[in-house]
Amino acid sequence: MNRESVTIAPDAPWTRPWPEEGLERLGWCPVCGSGERELLHEALKDAVFFCAPGCWTMWRCASCYSGYLDPRPTVATIGQAYGNYYTHQSAGSRADSSSLSLLRRIRRALSNGYLNARYGTNYQPASRLGPGLAKMLPRQREKLDARFRWLPKPVAGQRVLDVGCGNGGFLLNAHDAGWQVMGVDPDPDAVATARQKGLEVWLGSMEAFAGEAGLFDAITFSHVIEHVHDPKSVLADTYRLLKPGGTLYLDTPNIDSRGSRIFGQHWRGIEAPRHLVLFSLNGLQQLLQQCGFSVIELQRRRSMDRGIFLSSFRIARGLSPFGNQPKKLPVGLALRTRLLCVSTSQLELITLLAHKKMTTKISIAMATYNGEKYLQEQLDSFVTQTCQPDELVVCDDGSTDATLEILEVFRQHVSFTVRIYRNEINFGHIKNFEKSLIILYR
Ligand SMILES: [Zn+2]
Repeated sequence: MNRESVTIAPDAPWTRPWPEEGLERLGWCPVCGSGERELLHEALKDAVFFCAPGCWTMWRCASCYSGYLDPRPTVATIGQAYGNYYTHQSAGSRADSSSLSLLRRIRRALSNGYLNARYGTNYQPASRLGPGLAKMLPRQREKLDARFRWLPKPVAGQRVLDVGCGNGGFLLNAHDAGWQVMGVDPDPDAVATARQKGLEVWLGSMEAFAGEAGLFDAITFSHVIEHVHDPKSVLADTYRLLKPGGTLYLDTPNIDSRGSRIFGQHWRGIEAPRHLVLFSLNGLQQLLQQCGFSVIELQRRRSMDRGIFLSSFRIARGLSPFGNQPKKLPVGLALRTRLLCVSTSQLELITLLAHKKMTTKISIAMATYNGEKYLQEQLDSFVTQTCQPDELVVCDDGSTDATLEILEVFRQHVSFTVRIYRNEINFGHIKNFEKSLIILYR
């Protein structure tokens, strides 16, 4: 859709009420569960795609400061809000380098040089000057990083899942970087488009992996989490599906942004009723921590702001945000957007990476031979540690005293795994300890 102005037909779907039986009432914040709230916006309509029926009320949580619709469409009826949604439009591909002007070819080579070094792609032509230059040009670097979602460079065989992958544009980039890629999306047309590109994409959402755990090294959500009814359960599922040390990437409109304050109910991030929740940074961080994530890294992503201001301005004038006019903000408004103090927590999008903790297995390797005099004391010392081991591997070198009996009694009385091996011949203490280490590592 690319209309400049919006003509309101008397029977247009978006002017009708949402069916009453398709509404659910919450009374509490879907981010933190608090019932304390204040009215934020009333009479919100679909001013973005002009396809969803209904008139909506947004509340602001008094505890975590996130915004949410209440009442809102039920899970069963939310599909009615997505008539003209754009996820299945094909993404533009990069032009062949040879068709570019000399200046653009140089820029392409510098960009490729940076992407190859940072993300593991093998784009050509590539300049070795790219990584150094990117450090000096943070705005340019940010645009390149956004295409790869700031993910770490993968090692062979690492897997990324993109939830709400649309036509698979990001998955193609991730594939270029060496990731094994997989996507899920609820839009059948988007899934068909992605599959035509050879991508492994499933229709639906996270439920495709119900009961699974530790499948992915990275899971990404771009403009997705604000659309889901139960963000807490989605992020808990994400945590479970990540491997230890895995990375979550997430971006979503920021209710504390400058645009939200300046444009109010016309802010592009509102997008009722498809956006059910608009997170505050505080609310989202708390939710991620509750789901187990640690080390949350915020990205300072400024390049989206201008486009969101302009879209919001068009919405405020009753125009489509995707139209071509006006191309600039009026001077006063442009100044306001620039004069407001801009910390990372006030940018139009919250963009972050969060990590699942590494799990460290504590194992003890031990070699024994006729040690009945000191063995019990040594074993007891393992039990009295504040952090118990996960396993104890013991190789006995053919003891003829009570060593094995002591070990067996110990094995039956501790909560961690004790594996006992007995050598048929005497190896000597060095080789015996080596054997216990080999068993421990295999
Ligand atoms: Zn809340």
